[in-house]
Amino acid sequence: MPSLHIDGTWTTGSAGSAPVVNPYDASVVRHVDQAGPDDVDRAVAAARAAFDSGPWRSTPAPDRGALLRRIADLLVRDKEDIAHTETLDTGKTLAESRIDVDDVTAVFRYYADLADFGAGRLIETGRPNVVSKVVYEPVGVCALVTPWNYPLLQLSWKVAPALAAGNTMVIKPSEVTPLTSIILVRLCEEAGVPPGVVNIVLGDGPSVGAPLTAHPDVDMVSFTGGLATGRAIIRASAETVKRTAVELGGKNPNIVFADTDFELAVDYAMLAVFLHSGQVCSAGARLIVEDSLHDDLVAEVARRAERIRLGNGLEDGVEVGPMVSEAHRAKIEDFVRSAREAGATVVTGGSRPDDPALSKGFFYRPTVLTNVTRDMRVIREETFGPILTVERFTTEAEAVELGNDTEYGLAGAVFTRDMGRAHRVANALRHGTVWINDYHPYVPGAEWGGMKRSGNGRELGLAGLAEYQEAKHIWQNTAPEPQHWFKG
Ligand code: NAD
Repeated sequence: MPSLHIDGTWTTGSAGSAPVVNPYDASVVRHVDQAGPDDVDRAVAAARAAFDSGPWRSTPAPDRGALLRRIADLLVRDKEDIAHTETLDTGKTLAESRIDVDDVTAVFRYYADLADFGAGRLIETGRPNVVSKVVYEPVGVCALVTPWNYPLLQLSWKVAPALAAGNTMVIKPSEVTPLTSIILVRLCEEAGVPPGVVNIVLGDGPSVGAPLTAHPDVDMVSFTGGLATGRAIIRASAETVKRTAVELGGKNPNIVFADTDFELAVDYAMLAVFLHSGQVCSAGARLIVEDSLHDDLVAEVARRAERIRLGNGLEDGVEVGPMVSEAHRAKIEDFVRSAREAGATVVTGGSRPDDPALSKGFFYRPTVLTNVTRDMRVIREETFGPILTVERFTTEAEAVELGNDTEYGLAGAVFTRDMGRAHRVANALRHGTVWINDYHPYVPGAEWGGMKRSGNGRELGLAGLAEYQEAKHIWQNTAPEPQHWFKG
């Protein structure tokens, strides 16, 4: 079946096809069609026409909500298939993929309920003959560009609110992991989304993402991905003054005070960084530990890191999969090489696994680095892999200073039994999400996004819907009279 969807029709692209690779063993999962510039133009034209003259934007908000609920039901129906495909495509474990599908379903249900939330509000003007109201309208044609680490999940954070608000869209998933995005578009079609409202084009960033996001008929770009790409998209959007919402990387501190229960500290330090091999934007890759706890914590985390079971995400008992691609593993190897050269100590990991069963895949061992300094690349840049760096602090102020010493501001955590201290630190951290005595959870009702160079928008929550809405003020004079401002 062709893999591009334009104006309600599944179609091949003019740029041939490309293989989708299983990172577990480098086998080809399937080939998908690739869009050429003409396909991008056709997809935008379809979304433009569907917005300007189609039924979607004037569909009553409760009906849009009902459609989102149908999509959620279809996700539940196909959960196992979708999770299986996500694991083949990303290498993550099936358990994680199943959680992703559940989370995606919850996001569609949340925005289904919110669909008519923004029905507008009356403004009290103090003038008896005036009706003043603010209404919320869709932004228009949205380009939705997503990364490879949570392909379906990241896409749902955009598609669900964009649909709820009445927009039309062209989706451009990561060329590395496009498969579940294609499935989601099929489910939208099956649920009854009108032709042209949800389109998908496939291909890489330069040949498909760039022309799509710069397209003059696109009103808004919602992007999740790396900082460099985010900057390029904001620049490209300047020409036509598009609305942009960019969710970028993170360099996330996990601050642990010595009064934390030891088992809790170890367990969460590992969960924070090694889940999905660290390929998580909010990964707690910087462990910042109170001095007196440092040595014991490092020793125990390293001991357990060596026992993490790497393997095929489809197999029971496997805890962590591979890096998503050969190219991405090469970046991880480069980070560790540069840290070693700069004087860091590799406590464990720092190489590919020896197990011959894993030799075809893009595996890298969970790695713990100590003796790191703030000027090292491994501390300054997002590694997006299974690399834990450990730094020490002695005072609360120092912990906060270290946690904020990054150009990013996506997420962080603080572990302590002292709730006064926990809240002081949480308030002082300049990151969009701060967990206290926890790591990773999020809910559809709470905004997600970054400060500083982690981004300029918010997804999820009320703000996640507002990204896809324009506020319009309508002022009605119910008893107009000449004003005679000009006397002549
Ligand atoms: P990436 O920036 O390389 O690619 C993301 C998407 O942008 C892909 O679809 C790609 O094809 C496209 N793209 C690339 N160049 C483009 C261009 N010039 N114009 C338009 N589109 C272009 O990122 P990635 O490697 O796929 O994903 C990893 C990054 O995503 C990490 O930095 C991670 O932190 C970030 N991320 C952030 C969040 C968040 O919520 N803040 C969530 C997940 C991932």
